[in-house]
Amino acid sequence: MESDSSTFTKLLLGPGPSTVPDRILKAMANQTISHLDPEFFKILDETSENLRLLFKTKNEATFAVSGTGSAGMETVFANLIEKNDKVLIFNNGLFGDRMADVAARYGANVLEYKKDWGTSFKTSEMINQIDQCDNLKIVAIVHAETSTGVLQDIKNIGNHLKEKEILFVVDAVTSFTGAELKIDDWGIDVCYSGTQKCLNVPPGLSPITFNDRSLEKITKRKSKVVSWYLDMNLLQDYLGSNRIYHHTAPVNMLFALNEGLKICLEEGLTSRITRHNQVGKYFDKKLESSNFKPFVNIDESKSLPMLKSLILPKDFDDSLVRLKILNERKIEIGGGLGSTKGKIWRVGLMGCNARNDIVDLFFETTRDYL
Ligand code: PLP
Repeated sequence: MESDSSTFTKLLLGPGPSTVPDRILKAMANQTISHLDPEFFKILDETSENLRLLFKTKNEATFAVSGTGSAGMETVFANLIEKNDKVLIFNNGLFGDRMADVAARYGANVLEYKKDWGTSFKTSEMINQIDQCDNLKIVAIVHAETSTGVLQDIKNIGNHLKEKEILFVVDAVTSFTGAELKIDDWGIDVCYSGTQKCLNVPPGLSPITFNDRSLEKITKRKSKVVSWYLDMNLLQDYLGSNRIYHHTAPVNMLFALNEGLKICLEEGLTSRITRHNQVGKYFDKKLESSNFKPFVNIDESKSLPMLKSLILPKDFDDSLVRLKILNERKIEIGGGLGSTKGKIWRVGLMGCNARNDIVDLFFETTRDYL
């Protein structure tokens, strides 16, 4: 039986993947060409150039890793960490936990500075922690903690680390193109993202950027990068001007990403971020008169514009209601993770779904089920 894509049409208001616009689906449906075809190299070049514009960086080493956001995370730690390197991770959620786990697997001596889920770190507190550690090699943090809906202020950390020759790594899987992020101005050495959040591209690639300082650490390594697939020294031979075969790039995913980036640039990065902010605020306003409460303590921390976390009313059957809404209204809403499972919802307003009428639809729909 032929599959009908409309059978699966759902409004994706979870933590990602987000809804994919037809324009991106069409780009993805182009006939596959070789990953060594000069025409494809043009797509790779264009993708890197557009990623640079959106990351706000001049970094030459800016491209998409083959694999989801977690592959971006692994690429960073696999390449930057040598045995027993001290890595400080500011951890206030599930993706902070994951960073610590991944860094440890690559041999790091991981130090974690933890805070409760739903809270964020003050810049002064972070700088204090950093200054108390000797011989740190890397500081890593999640910009938009998707497990809690907290936006972390990272503007003033990177430039403080520059004086100390410590690399600053940022996870921008959820924030990229939906919240302000300035790689060069904020002194971020390495940053990775994912395609399935504010870019509205299907999951499968991880945009990433490395500056010269971070590449120098990689070229000066005493030991080989443990992962062959993610080794930047090898990857750069394909991605750079040499174009030497490394692995078969996921050609159609790159068609999709290339189109997604064009859509962002046509709207304009500033307008796109402003739209996410305005819709996020509209959501917060409507939340005040709903049966939900914000999970993020908004007096102390900023909530994400593109992902709202809500405390559910008491005795609320989370999974049953979400399943009913998914089946009957074709709307996906995200549940909580870890200790918040069954207690919170996570509502994604990402990319093309960052719209006031979608916020209205969310509140109207959920009212019927509460
Ligand atoms: N980091 C953050 C902040 C995320 O939200 C996610 C996924 O939701 C990841 C990393 C991992 O990305 P992926 O699931 O695409 O591997």
